[in-house]
Amino acid sequence: MAKRDYYEVLGVDKNVTPEELKKAYRKLALKYHPDRNPGDKEAEEKFKEAAEAYDVLSNPDKKAKYDQFGHAGLEGAGGFGGQGMSMDDIFSSFGSIFGDLFGGGGGFGFSGFGDARGRGGRPTSRGSNLRIKVKLTLEEIEQGVEKKIKVAKYVPCKSCGGTGARNNSFETCSHCHGTGVVTEVRRSLFGQMQTQSACPYCGGQGRIIKDKCHDCHGDGIVKSDEIITINIPAGVSDGMQLSMRGQGNAAPHGGVAGDLIIQVEEIPHDLFERQDNNLFYNAFVTFAEAAMGASIEIPTLNGKVRVKIEQGTPSGKVIRLKGKGLPDLNGYSRGDLLVSINVWIPKSLTKEEKNILEELNKHPNFQPNPSKQERGFFDKMKDLFN
Ligand SMILES: [Zn+2]
Ligand SMILES: [Zn+2]
Repeated sequence: MAKRDYYEVLGVDKNVTPEELKKAYRKLALKYHPDRNPGDKEAEEKFKEAAEAYDVLSNPDKKAKYDQFGHAGLEGAGGFGGQGMSMDDIFSSFGSIFGDLFGGGGGFGFSGFGDARGRGGRPTSRGSNLRIKVKLTLEEIEQGVEKKIKVAKYVPCKSCGGTGARNNSFETCSHCHGTGVVTEVRRSLFGQMQTQSACPYCGGQGRIIKDKCHDCHGDGIVKSDEIITINIPAGVSDGMQLSMRGQGNAAPHGGVAGDLIIQVEEIPHDLFERQDNNLFYNAFVTFAEAAMGASIEIPTLNGKVRVKIEQGTPSGKVIRLKGKGLPDLNGYSRGDLLVSINVWIPKSLTKEEKNILEELNKHPNFQPNPSKQERGFFDKMKDLFN
């Protein structure tokens, strides 16, 4: 059978807006939804056809290929070949397409169906996410670091293998006859609709524990202190969150474990201020060093470097040490270390020091004689008041 034109399937034209497209698809998805047309093969085909058309036309890349080459443009990568979309694909995309329209996310209703259905057709439970904070020094951030952290979390109970049942003693749930789901007909905005939800008697398990495990009291999970190794990449910053899939709390009765969410906390550094990937450092030199030039030692996150101070360096001059900042998280670039040169002015003087300074102060080179550039600041001030 020849494939129908996607625009024709959804009843829209080539200049359709994303909103109109969604609306058109929603109408068809509701009309041909298998829950409303049980056992109707033709409706199922139409349902799949609409989902496929929407999948292509809602994706700018695929749409462009289709507009140019028709169905042939979609064969191979990203296309459907002879298979079409599977029902699971269609259901699992409902949440992202229709969002809260179907009360997606939380519920186990219309939209949640595809997401929450486990491999065996039963709903799967999911463990909760765990959040921890990891404190890092700038040195650790600069290098990237492996941290071993003790986390108190739920893990599958060893005594019962996570099932919650002692010696595997189960009986089939009489309420849902072992399917784990109950079907209910509900009236909604779109008319009558069948919804399936997890069986409340067995929690979607389809079976009931006859003899509960003594260690976990039938939950299948126990609290335990676990050492988790976390690889922190170089270049992270304060407040950033990293997530480790499946390292959160285990789910009761053998479901999918939650995630471990790691929040980065940066310990303020004694010497450096951070801004993005750049570091700032205040260096102090003597008047003599600034006037005559010198070579001074500057700390960096990985050892000291020597920096040349030019003769006649004014206080406030900033020297940029390229690449001595922090690496970018993507690893392609590095920030700089910006060294601000401050001339140290003595806070008190001996009689002898005063005499020397008074002598120096009479010399012509010690009289202020700023260049035009150095006076530039006042030009800016004037501009401000004009
Ligand atoms: Zn049940
Ligand atoms: Zn147990």
